Amino acid sequence: MSKTPYLTFDLDTPGMSTGHLVVPKGDDCEAISLPVFSLNKGEGPRLLVTGGNHGNELEGPIVARRLVDWLPKVQTCGRVIIVPMLNLPAVQAWSQDSPIDGLNLNRVFPGRADGSVTERIADAVSRLLLPMADTVFDLHSFGPTWDCPPSVVTHPIGDVDLMAKTLRMAEAFKLPVTLLWEHPDTKGMFDTWVHSQGKVFVCAEFGGGTVNAEALAIYESGLRNGLIALGLVDGKAECPTFRQRKASKTLETLLSDELKSPARGIFEPRCSVLDEVSQGGLIGVIYPVDSLSADAIDIRAPTTSIVCAVKSGIHVEVNQKVAFLARPLKP
Ligand SMILES: [Zn+2]
Repeated sequence: MSKTPYLTFDLDTPGMSTGHLVVPKGDDCEAISLPVFSLNKGEGPRLLVTGGNHGNELEGPIVARRLVDWLPKVQTCGRVIIVPMLNLPAVQAWSQDSPIDGLNLNRVFPGRADGSVTERIADAVSRLLLPMADTVFDLHSFGPTWDCPPSVVTHPIGDVDLMAKTLRMAEAFKLPVTLLWEHPDTKGMFDTWVHSQGKVFVCAEFGGGTVNAEALAIYESGLRNGLIALGLVDGKAECPTFRQRKASKTLETLLSDELKSPARGIFEPRCSVLDEVSQGGLIGVIYPVDSLSADAIDIRAPTTSIVCAVKSGIHVEVNQKVAFLARPLKP
């Protein structure tokens, strides 16, 4: 049994080929084989598409798998590698983090060859797949307890040129929101690792907890727009319609835009995603459950904002996030 990760097939094979990325056995589990699809049409842009980084965000694996069906017919050049289920044990358990070592794959990059299984997955991807790509699309969906508009997200990047290039790539998806997200915890993110190599990485987010056909169609058309912008596919990018609107906005959300619940309770949303709210506008109400006689608590917007994501999973703990606000990104 190999102690180093390997691919069961040659990514240089022309045309469409399929096989596995084998993550070696460790102290905590046997070897894991991640399905990999390679579409090689020679010279041109090199793209890696991943889904299932978080195992409870299943729109990504569906859309990645659908891509495998239609991309071979329309790809004109370059290479695309598709891994629909990056953290396979987490997807199998429908859990954000791995059921084996409890780790969040999106916090352990670049991984460790001698680490636990999630670290070994990150190591295998870092060694064998990332060198084959200049751009990465990582397909998420914000988790099953959130409502958020179809978005492409990136985090602030120190390198000004890479930041501009990444934002342009994100905007090319033409999804309702392109979001620059100031995140409190970016160490070990797949994004951070790829950006550190000077490569473009964007992350699609499309929350809702329920997978429906309309949402998947929007997600898929955003991905197609991204492929057109890269030059992998011919065609004209189209802005998808979301909740009767056909617009894309570039927004910024800061740490201070995360609204949290001051109590354990039931959260009642009083706004919808993409609503514009004034300073003091009502975002939602918390009904504390520890004391049934306690008054309801209003959650209000600290500044004039656009609602970017709202908790849809009703039950919240103390200090848990209930909404993300945002505002137009200044050029
Ligand atoms: Zn995610």
